Amino acid sequence: MIRVEYVDGRACPLVRCDGCGEQITDAGMAGVVWPLNAGPEFPQYGEGPTIPRFLCKTNRCLSRCDWPWEELSTWLVFLVGNVGLDGATRWRDAQGHAEFARRCR
Ligand SMILES: [Zn+2]
Repeated sequence: MIRVEYVDGRACPLVRCDGCGEQITDAGMAGVVWPLNAGPEFPQYGEGPTIPRFLCKTNRCLSRCDWPWEELSTWLVFLVGNVGLDGATRWRDAQGHAEFARRCR
């Protein structure tokens, strides 16, 4: 789950494993999963909202799930592009704003 947690008085956006609750600090060690019956490929199940879940590899939470999944790092790249941060200038501006958040770890 994506959460806002307060660390040293700062509001920090964090990702925690939906399986074990551990904070995910390495995007290469986690995956994003979603229900198999979601999306237009499965019209028999409808197209309700799909809420992704985040599972770690560290505690094997991802390997115990049989839902479709994608590496967290890849998923985040798609997300960044989908919210319009794929241009170099906007990406650099966002990194400047994120400098504050990096101190949350
Ligand atoms: Zn986990």
